[in-house]
Amino acid sequence: MNRVNPATGEELEPIEEHTAEEVDEAVTRSAEAYAEWSGRPMEERQKLLSGAADVLRENVDEYAEIMTREMGKPIAGARSEVEKCAWACDHYAERAGEYLADERIGTEPHAEAFVSYEPLGPVLAIMPWNFPFWQVFRFAAPTLTAGNTGLLKHASNVPECALAIEDVFREAGYPEGVFQSLLVGSDLVNDVIEDDRVAAVTLTGSERAGRAVGKAAGEQLKPSVLELGGSDPFVVLDDADVEVAAAVGARTRTLNSGQSCIAAKRFIVVDEVYEAFLEAFVREMEALTVGDPMDEDADVGPQAREDLMEDLHEQVQATLSEGATLQTGGEPLDREGFFYPPTVVTDVPRDATMSCEEVFGPAAAVYGVGGEAEAIDLANDSHYGLGGSVWTEDLHRGKRVAREIESGCVFVNELTKSDPRLPFGGVKDSGYGRELSEKGIRAFVNAKTVWVQ
Ligand code: NAP
Repeated sequence: MNRVNPATGEELEPIEEHTAEEVDEAVTRSAEAYAEWSGRPMEERQKLLSGAADVLRENVDEYAEIMTREMGKPIAGARSEVEKCAWACDHYAERAGEYLADERIGTEPHAEAFVSYEPLGPVLAIMPWNFPFWQVFRFAAPTLTAGNTGLLKHASNVPECALAIEDVFREAGYPEGVFQSLLVGSDLVNDVIEDDRVAAVTLTGSERAGRAVGKAAGEQLKPSVLELGGSDPFVVLDDADVEVAAAVGARTRTLNSGQSCIAAKRFIVVDEVYEAFLEAFVREMEALTVGDPMDEDADVGPQAREDLMEDLHEQVQATLSEGATLQTGGEPLDREGFFYPPTVVTDVPRDATMSCEEVFGPAAAVYGVGGEAEAIDLANDSHYGLGGSVWTEDLHRGKRVAREIESGCVFVNELTKSDPRLPFGGVKDSGYGRELSEKGIRAFVNAKTVWVQ
């Protein structure tokens, strides 16, 4: 698999792809491992997961550097990502037993009835490059601890991350075959989904990939979770703390160099505070340091691949030609690597490219609206429904507006973020199913009803 360091454009040493035969052998190992692993006591699986958290923390610098080298994430964020993976492992190491405990149903005195949560088998996980550790652990920590085995098909540009994650589980003492990486392109995915030994599939990625994987899973009648793209609204109401909203808004839009599914992408600001917000927001975006992602001070690194930077630039240019006004940024930086500056556009028509498509880079669309009702209407005027953020000093109002936004989560006076304790997922074209929390560990289990007369 060819790899390019996005900060320099230089080729990294290629990593050999697996053949179809090697994939078949891995699926066999996964099914064999499942037979033993699924029968282990929950406490043993929890203990091993706790060990995986230790391995992550012990090797945080090494794993962070692999990520930064392969996909350009600023190094401080890469380290936080490894720590967050360890947190997810800690969470399920503590709570998995409780989340999957038998659930008694009130049928006494006629009979005893309960729900038993049992694993399904090998689960295929197709993952993206943007949070190359976090997306995988968010799936693996609950899914393996529930007694399933995991097969990871990672994005083609991060094979070293895929191998490093396999190592985490090996070093933590997991039995062979419980977690394996398949180093293959997306062309082999259907074969794995169709394999009778594979029980279920989860994908985090684009809407396009979601449609393909959802279709293949549906044809096989296999359960699936789809975590897809987003175009999250960031609603600033007239009573918001505009300075704080602008600072947090710039942070969320540029997090991971703008390549986050739950980054705010459409900034919807009521007229009373529009000028003040825009002035502060542009100032915050311009103050960010764009630079070498290995540098501790870099706020924004390169885009992960050259083609992705070109797509982003095309979206910005198309939006400008559709009537929008450029406030800052808007041109790739004249340096080696795939650097795009924090960019802000205003006067964006509702049917413009940046209003309709997901913008996966540090470019923000800012909209002025007449009031709360128009803000909600515009927030919901998207085929995506992943996250959202509402800014107001009136918390009752914040909760009310949050309920009216069509998405999988809304944060009031905070940026949208994932947290092992909270369910995470989308509605509309952002996908279906939930990861994390109790809901995430119940995604790939058989909720079996047992009736005892
Ligand atoms: P992508 O191109 O869809 O790739 C994601 C994964 O799917 C990769 O492993 C890719 O393999 C595979 N894939 C692509 N096309 C496929 C197909 N037709 N059949 C089977 N597998 C296929 O997405 P990306 O560019 O890596 O990631 C960015 C996208 O992910 C954005 O839309 C972002 O919003 C979304 N995302 C969503 C969440 C969430 O939680 N909702 C989180 C992070 C990212 P190859 O690399 O081999 O093509």
